[in-house]
Amino acid sequence: MREIGHYINGREQAGQSGRCSEVFNPATGAAEARVSLANAAEVDAAVAAAQAAFPEWSAAAPLRRARILFRFRELLGAHHDALAQAITREHGKVLADARGEVTRGIEVVEFACGVPALLTGSHSDNVGGGIDNWNLRQPLGVVAGITPFNFPVMVPMWMFPLALACGNCFVLKPSEKDPSASLLLAQLLREAGLPDGVFNVVQGDKEAVDALLAHPQVAAISFVGSTAIAQQIYATGARHGKRVQALGGAKNHLVVMPDANLEQAVDALVGAAYGSAGERCMAISVAVAVGAIADPLVEALAERARTLRIGDGLKPDVEMGPLVSAAHKARVEGYIAQGVAEGARLVVDGRGYRVPGREGGYFTGGSLFDHVQPQHAVYREEIFGPVLSVVRAADLRSAVALINAHPYSNGAVCFTSDGGVARGFARAVEVGMVGINVPIPVPMAWHGFGGWKQSLFGDHHAYGEEGLRFYTRYKSVMQRWPDSIGKGAEFTMPVAR
Ligand code: NAD
Repeated sequence: MREIGHYINGREQAGQSGRCSEVFNPATGAAEARVSLANAAEVDAAVAAAQAAFPEWSAAAPLRRARILFRFRELLGAHHDALAQAITREHGKVLADARGEVTRGIEVVEFACGVPALLTGSHSDNVGGGIDNWNLRQPLGVVAGITPFNFPVMVPMWMFPLALACGNCFVLKPSEKDPSASLLLAQLLREAGLPDGVFNVVQGDKEAVDALLAHPQVAAISFVGSTAIAQQIYATGARHGKRVQALGGAKNHLVVMPDANLEQAVDALVGAAYGSAGERCMAISVAVAVGAIADPLVEALAERARTLRIGDGLKPDVEMGPLVSAAHKARVEGYIAQGVAEGARLVVDGRGYRVPGREGGYFTGGSLFDHVQPQHAVYREEIFGPVLSVVRAADLRSAVALINAHPYSNGAVCFTSDGGVARGFARAVEVGMVGINVPIPVPMAWHGFGGWKQSLFGDHHAYGEEGLRFYTRYKSVMQRWPDSIGKGAEFTMPVAR
């Protein structure tokens, strides 16, 4: 069986810990590889390599770092399909969606290529007494990224392109469920000319994460994953004196107003609820039907949920692939049983879905609940599967109140044809990302991605200007040259004259 190891100091290395975990193809259920799980010594080796590379890398001109990223961007384009295939084989999402994931990652590299301009500070000439004052943004040192299974290329690329561009060295700990893409990225960075040690990958689980969190030479942690772990990473990292951004889970609502274009809203909901089998942090898992649109909306959604084209993501024309693992499939189907037991109306039941020729795959069909209540588990908790809950609301005010009462606050969407409603919604809703007639409002690379409340712990969103701030330290410089000195010692607070 194929063995997946680490990438430390510019070389792939077999694991030494003696611990490993199987990597499955979710469409067949077959174990296709074994990934090593790093111990503290292997994490330490990766951090040491990064620390050793830091002085030279951080001193390189930003333009030199950008040129390597430009080459990396070209290589990503040339290997776009190989990366997408690696994603689909281990995650299960359909190939077109995997290609889209790679594209969204490339966009962050493109943003990071502008780092010389992004790092310019502000300058105040002659603040008084021949003194100038300006600010710098300097890299932190060794920074680590801990990433989830659902975007094995895009989420690491929310982090490392900008971290490297700013002059940091990076240690990536990808998900053990789909680790292959991380090594492809490492190879492409090496081919692009990145010096050894600047980017490292340690495969692993909690043991590797704990070692990173406690490591004295790791200055910052970027985490993306489920809320319980995010909260724990944030608290532990902060306790060890690190800068931490920890993005957590989600329960995204899409409000359909009575004046919305029904066909567009249905298309949006079907793609956003069932795309990637609902395994997206920006998936829509709740449709809030306002007023009389509820009955026709549920009817149209049911028809579409029943006729989804489900199969192996590598096959053409498939709309939805399998879930990532057998355990996750059991969890998702368990939520459906709980929804029924708690009294929600199950309009379409995706449980027990079989794909001919792929009987071992972790498939489930699209499921649809109607008359879901806020106290139901299918409403409160993140299912992370193709299960859409319809909640009926009397008006916009109660729809917004519902969203604002939910602890998860990643994204929220409103479909309407009324500009005033749209504006009011965007201003009142308490989430990090808002869509108006846009089902999955993932901000572009130069904006910034993140939620509020239980969906993000820390001060900074991912990538964009927020990422730039996260991966740099602010320094303010005041400068006076000898020809402007000569007034003798000053014992009072210097003030502008
Ligand atoms: P997860 O929390 O199980 O794992 C995330 C990472 O943490 C992995 O690298 C994993 O190895 C590691 N990990 C797991 N358990 C750990 C533990 N006890 N201690 C330390 N590290 C641990 O998440 P997942 O199942 O891989 O991904 C799905 C979750 O990620 C969903 O909740 C989804 O909403 C969330 N997600 C959020 C965003 C966002 O931007 N907010 C984006 C993508 C995914």
